[in-house]
Amino acid sequence: MAVPKRKHSNARTGSRRSHDHKEMVQITYCTGCSTAIMTHVICPKCGTYMDRKIVEPKVKKNKRSSSYK
Ligand SMILES: [Zn+2]
Repeated sequence: MAVPKRKHSNARTGSRRSHDHKEMVQITYCTGCSTAIMTHVICPKCGTYMDRKIVEPKVKKNKRSSSYK
């Protein structure tokens, strides 16, 4: 089995881990309804992507009001 010959220095470990941090999520605003959305994602509120209507937005049903009608 291959075994490392020398211990890595703390600086070498730190410089390797310098790329391991989290990055901020890219946010843009929908052209249809101005909601903050992730880039390259269809707007969940109005179903628009690149100024085109792609899908009909899902309408949330209120479980309590629908079950007692
Ligand atoms: Zn939208």
